[in-house]
This record gives sequence, C-alpha cells and structure tokens, in this order.
Amino acid sequence: MAGEVWTIGKLLKWTEDYFTKAGLDTPRLDGEVLLCHVLNKERIHLYVHFDQPLTKEELARYKACIKERVQHKPVAYIVGHKDFMGLEFKVNEGTLIPRPDTEILVEAVISRLKTGMDNLGTIADIGTGSGAICLSLLNYLPDLKAATVDISPGAIEVAKENAERLGLSDRVEFFQGDMLEPIKDRKFSAIVSNPPYIPEGDIPGLESDVKDYEPISALVAGPDGLDFYRRLVAEAGELIADDGFLALEIGINQAESLMALGQEHGWARCELIKDLAGIDRVVILWKQK
Ligand code: SAM
Ligand code: GLN
Repeated sequence: MAGEVWTIGKLLKWTEDYFTKAGLDTPRLDGEVLLCHVLNKERIHLYVHFDQPLTKEELARYKACIKERVQHKPVAYIVGHKDFMGLEFKVNEGTLIPRPDTEILVEAVISRLKTGMDNLGTIADIGTGSGAICLSLLNYLPDLKAATVDISPGAIEVAKENAERLGLSDRVEFFQGDMLEPIKDRKFSAIVSNPPYIPEGDIPGLESDVKDYEPISALVAGPDGLDFYRRLVAEAGELIADDGFLALEIGINQAESLMALGQEHGWARCELIKDLAGIDRVVILWKQK
C-alpha cells in the first residue's frame, strides 16, 4: 500500500479482492463496515465520497482491522457493535453476536404479547447475552418491563451498558445466575430465550468466525443440544401467567424434540415459526389452548 494514493473506492475494491481470496463470505460488506468504523461515517458516505483519499492514520487503522478480519475475527467484534431489530448493540468477545434469525423470535413475541394480553406486564429473557432480545422488546413495547438472566458476568455488564445506551434501564432488571434460579419466585407474562443449542459434537465443524471467537458457553448445550430446553420446558410453566407462553429459538432439526418435550410437560399448545430459509426456528409453548 506504500506510496500510493488510497481513495475510498480503490480501497474497497482492493479489500473485496483480498477478502474473497481469503475465503470470507461477505467480502464487500465486511470492507464497507470496517471502513465506516475507521472513518466514523455511515455507509452512504462511502458511496458519495468514492474519490476521497484516506489519511495515513486512517489507512493504518484500516489495515489493522483488515488483519484481524482475515484471521476470521467477526466484523462485529472488530467494530464493537452489531445492528439488531434496527437498534445498535454493543458486543464484545464475552457476548454472542445477535443473529438475524433471532429477529424472528422477537417479532413473534411482539405480535403475541400485543394481541394476547391487555396488560403486557413483565417478561423474562433467559441467557440475555448483549440484551438483544429483551431490549428490543422493551424498545418496541413501551408498556413492557423485563427481567434478564445470564450466567456470564461479562454478558450482564454489556447488556446493562446497552440498556443505558438505549435509554431502557428503568424498565429492566439484571440477574447473574443459572437459568430460572434468580427469578424463581416471580410470575411473568412470557418467558423468552435463545439458549445455547449446539450439540457438543457439532462444535469442531462450526466456521472459524464462530468457534474461534464467540463464547463457547453461549453455544454448546450437551450431547444433543437440548440440555437448556429440557430445563426450560420443565420449569418455566410455573413462572408464567395462565394466558402466557414460553418462546424459544431453536436450531436445525430440533422442532420435533421440542414438541415432544412440550407435551411431556403439559403445555397445552405448541406453535412453530419458520425462518426465511424455511427452517423451524421458533417454538411457542402456551399454557392454555
Ligand atoms: N440472547 C442473546 C442473543 O440472542 O443474541 C444471547 C444468546 S446465546 C445463544 C446464549 C446465552 O446464554 C449466552 O449469553 C450465555 O452466556 C447464556 N448462558 C449459558 N448458560 C447459561 C445458564 N446456565 N444460565 C443462564 N444463562 C446461560
Ligand atoms: N445461531 C447460532 C449459531 O448457529 C447458535 C446460537 C445458539 O446456540 N443459541 O451460530
């Protein structure tokens, strides 16, 4: 790169080629997001300033980002945030990066709380990570309150920071602990969770971006991936109001097991919702028909 004038347009083209050769899935997008981070600008800025040269200092910082990305460090960890449900969430290597699939869970909960209940009350989010699920719910449902739990103190710190940044702190309580344990004497309108659900044996086959950088304790769930569902499906009912529900994100091929668990533990009705790829992604278990 030495000696040349590097404009935004030229740099993006170069990065796209470099990332493509490095085997990254979204080379153009990654370059754009990293460059926006370095320049502290929105993506539209790149397109209307294609001929703008970078300063030496900007170029040096961009090069540092590129180096991290070719090692497969996820873009969200390099820039320190991720968009989810139209909101910006701080993330770090102690929190899972919120996934687009999880927006399906949030949208399903929004529509069911709105249509099903007069008083939205309080929901619980188990394994909150960055707080993506519960803080989105609070943002879009101004009457709602939430209690969140995570086993990881680092995740709770990040979730608290996100609540502050989004101006939602006054409607959410945070608990560090194991699943339902910290909230076991309470009642909720609904309980929501995207728990770890990857079978142990599948971890070595995950892409490097995930297995080498994201917290393993956010992903792995015993030999069949169902450890956390067994506990939630068995125990959450007692904490949910009679007209309420348990809403869970699930992994590929887990829908049948979840329906069987729901029946075994006396849930009255089970809804399945597919993701955009046609895979069953969300299970809603209702206490009443
Ligand atoms: N809710 C976030 C999201 O959807 O982006 C994070 C979901 S991540 C798949 C699962 C979360 O569960 C992680 O933050 C992890 O720390 C947390 N977790 C793992 N074991 C737990 C346990 N025994 N009790 C509570 N939380 C747990
Ligand atoms: N959707 C995540 C992945 O496949 C897994 C999240 C989870 O275990 N809940 O990387």
